[in-house]
Amino acid sequence: MIISTGTASGKSLAYLTPAVASCLDGGTVLYLTPTKALAADQLRGLRELRITQLRAACFDGDTPFEERTWVRQHANYVLTNPDMLHRSVLPRHAQWSSFFRRLRMVVVDECHGYRGVFGSHVAQILRRLRRVCARYGSQPVFLLASATASEPGAFAMRLTGLEMAEVTSDGSPKGATTIALWEPPLTELRGERGAPVRRTATAEAADLLTDLVLANVRTLAFVRSRRGAETVALTARAKLAEVAFSLAGTPGPPTVDGSSPDRDTPMASLDPGTAPPRPGHGTTPPRSDQGATSPGSDQSALSWGVPDSAGWADLPDRIAAYRAGYLAEDRRLLEKALRSGSIMGLATTNALELGVDVSGLDAVLIAGWPGTRASLWQQAGRAGRDGQEALAVLIARDDPLDTYLVHHPQALFGQPVEAIVLDPDNPYVLGPHLCAAAAEIPLTDADLPVFGPTTPNVLDDLVTQGLLRKRPAGWFWTRRERATDLADIRGGGGAPIQVVESATGRLLGSVDEPSAHTTVHTGAVYLHQGETYLVELLDLEAGVALVGGPEPDYTTFARDVTEISVLASLRSHDLGPGSLHFGEVEVTRQVVSYLKRRLQSGEMLGDEPLDLPPRTLRTRAVWWTLPASEVAILAEEGFDLGGAAHAAEHAAIGLLPLFATCDRWDIGGVSTELHADTGLLTVFVYDGHEGGAGFAERGYARATDWLTATREAIASCECERGCPSCIQSPKCGNGNEPLDKRGAIHLLDTLLRSTPSAS
Ligand SMILES: [Zn+2]
Ligand SMILES: [Zn+2]
Repeated sequence: MIISTGTASGKSLAYLTPAVASCLDGGTVLYLTPTKALAADQLRGLRELRITQLRAACFDGDTPFEERTWVRQHANYVLTNPDMLHRSVLPRHAQWSSFFRRLRMVVVDECHGYRGVFGSHVAQILRRLRRVCARYGSQPVFLLASATASEPGAFAMRLTGLEMAEVTSDGSPKGATTIALWEPPLTELRGERGAPVRRTATAEAADLLTDLVLANVRTLAFVRSRRGAETVALTARAKLAEVAFSLAGTPGPPTVDGSSPDRDTPMASLDPGTAPPRPGHGTTPPRSDQGATSPGSDQSALSWGVPDSAGWADLPDRIAAYRAGYLAEDRRLLEKALRSGSIMGLATTNALELGVDVSGLDAVLIAGWPGTRASLWQQAGRAGRDGQEALAVLIARDDPLDTYLVHHPQALFGQPVEAIVLDPDNPYVLGPHLCAAAAEIPLTDADLPVFGPTTPNVLDDLVTQGLLRKRPAGWFWTRRERATDLADIRGGGGAPIQVVESATGRLLGSVDEPSAHTTVHTGAVYLHQGETYLVELLDLEAGVALVGGPEPDYTTFARDVTEISVLASLRSHDLGPGSLHFGEVEVTRQVVSYLKRRLQSGEMLGDEPLDLPPRTLRTRAVWWTLPASEVAILAEEGFDLGGAAHAAEHAAIGLLPLFATCDRWDIGGVSTELHADTGLLTVFVYDGHEGGAGFAERGYARATDWLTATREAIASCECERGCPSCIQSPKCGNGNEPLDKRGAIHLLDTLLRSTPSAS
């Protein structure tokens, strides 16, 4: 069964009740979550129930070796994550035999996170789990909890391979939320090719956060990156320091009583008359003795809970930044400060969705489209306490999708949330898990249906490659290495690049090789657990990226050039006078340079060349072509066809995440006036993962809606010849040249002509 309802609707209680009952009844429960932090929180909740027969324990990378045996033999409620299940629990299933024998229920919490390639891996891990359970004679009930999603039953079935019942009605009480869609203005700044630049979403978020905190509204600001969240918090604190400075000597703020959680109706205090004046731009902000204006200082983020005693002087301390990786005690402290009102404003990344209870907020600011309608509603749902009215503001970033949404509220309201997309049949995902499954228990013909229809072909390939051995009794893993090492479930394959701090030699983490070219190239700004590093050197041969240096005040975007060849068109149909295809392609990508953009203003600081080798990827793509006769008409009207196709490609990549749960970084595109394989004007959008991830396929299925939205996004941007909010792309390897904005609109109009409006 899958429960798919909003934030704070009681999902935990819905699975805890039967799960705990199963334990009391002599059974065992396996609880899966994507992160260790959430498992730790759940464990605390279970222990607070004080039920002696409930022996709950976490089993993850942090579990001490000496405790692991106890967990395997005695725990009846085990909390773990898919990685641990894959690497440790399933390969050593014999040690877990008594647990598996009594397994009644598998809880898959926060399962909306299992999308794309990662989701496809988890889907195969769950199939391996089902097979191991069957070996021990148990057939557990799978209980999935998800944020609101479209067709949750179909998603849950793809994830588990089982028939699923869905629960989607949410009866929890909720006050009305006012939603504001906020587009920052164009500035005087000029970007690439002289394009106008909008004020950044983070700058607008900092202003709004300041105003709301001054108006005594408890506000949470969601910012995409941790660095962005810290910038918002620091900027807002600096602004509050200015206010405090200009108001010093006057009576303190209206409700500085940190001990009283009860206050006036929050929305009423939004009246500007009751708020202190906005910071004057002429005043010099005083240096705060709390370190409020020193970026990177941990003190600024951890100074919550400082009691208000001196009136205005402590105003900046009412805002904090929160990032993942805080200890549980710090998180509890922060929750307390929020509840008491000693913290009124908090800037955070989505990490907050996992781990901190922030019920009791009045307003939520969302800086930049969070990726899906599901996340938007989940984040907006954080505002509003005790059924009171609340405010949520979506602040658009300089991006075609954000532009489209703030101009087309109908794309948000009254629309179903997205379907969660994954592709468990991807042979690059399935292959390694078949090896792992064979290593666990040799595979037989009877197992094949568990792993899906492509299994026989993939097995043949694995035998040919010498990874599996076929015997009369089935398929066997006979190699010495661990089969589970073949599947890199959170990465994209290839040997990972180690990220090392050059000054100390400390290993910060690792990045899979395909992403290394775009995220840790020499000169890249790299973010790790809230800290910003400058990559001094990427050494691909040594597999190391050395980081360090001063904290830069800009972001970087890697730019690549791409070539694509069609291997096979799997499906196609007419699209207006042109045609639409979905199929297999080979993509050769080379990161050639990177763009530097100032963090706070969005101003472009230049394009630096890079020398990296090309990489080849076999994946899936959706593409459309236009016949020569139509191209000739557009050419006669004076449009730059290459520029029109290129502009349509950029905007289409920007808009696909509206239809498939992907990020614009998960997909790529190629456009050309004349493609060698099609002989026609062609625009491709491909999955940026080996073997494909289901995104292009979704684009094919929703092509008419997708291209209509793409056209609208371009047409509704007020710029004249194109800007980052419509057709420019920060990752364009051709420096956003050529681009023809009006040509792109006409090109899309041609394609969409006489096509039925429903897909
Ligand atoms: Zn524009
Ligand atoms: Zn481009």
